[in-house]
Amino acid sequence: MTLRDITSKITKAEAKAGREAGSVSLIAVSKVQPNGRVEAVLEEGHRVFGENKVQEAAGKWPAFRERFENIELHLIGPLQTNKTRQAMELADSIHTLDRPKLANTMARIAQEIGKCPDLFIQVNTGEEEQKAGVLPMDADGFIAECLALDLPVKGLMCIPPVEEEAALHFALLAKIAKRNGLQGLSMGMSSDFEKAIALGATHVRVGSAIFGDRVVG
Ligand SMILES: *Cc1c(COP(=O)(O)O)cnc(C)c1O
Repeated sequence: MTLRDITSKITKAEAKAGREAGSVSLIAVSKVQPNGRVEAVLEEGHRVFGENKVQEAAGKWPAFRERFENIELHLIGPLQTNKTRQAMELADSIHTLDRPKLANTMARIAQEIGKCPDLFIQVNTGEEEQKAGVLPMDADGFIAECLALDLPVKGLMCIPPVEEEAALHFALLAKIAKRNGLQGLSMGMSSDFEKAIALGATHVRVGSAIFGDRVVG
């Protein structure tokens, strides 16, 4: 598929769900993709990208920003506390706020540097041991804690377990967001973004369907 195929599927999914055209933001996930492929998508006019490692993002996006205006960079991978400052200086949005220590660190650094990216709180909707994210039962408390720190929390993010019906997880995330008055929902990837849009996604994170399979090694 191409960028154009994906954007047209998004437009159709928005219409089908009775949602406003353009209400869903497409994050093109460029992790481990060769720069040539990323550049081609930039040349097509797309400006919203996602990376899951701070180091990798720092290695490629400053140079792209010099050549292309209005790039919006989203960090969507687990964030180590010692990379918080670098992440906050680099990204426009961070989707993986998932623990009090990280929230406190972000609040302190935001004071120091005078800015903070838009934040999404990651919820481990499948309660998987190996996955990051706050547990659903702890979500309300953690959201309140982050808002009390004056962090710009825009919404919630989830990565459903691979072997389960994603729609159940999208619906759960939407329910938690709604009862906490949060608008943003970062959910849906290459295989299920249309389903996520039907359930209210405001940000879909699509990698391989745009760029092709990830080149590893
Ligand atoms: C890699 C990644 C994606 C994109 O996955 P695809 O299946 O290639 O669309 C989305 N979200 C997160 C958190 C990722 O790490």
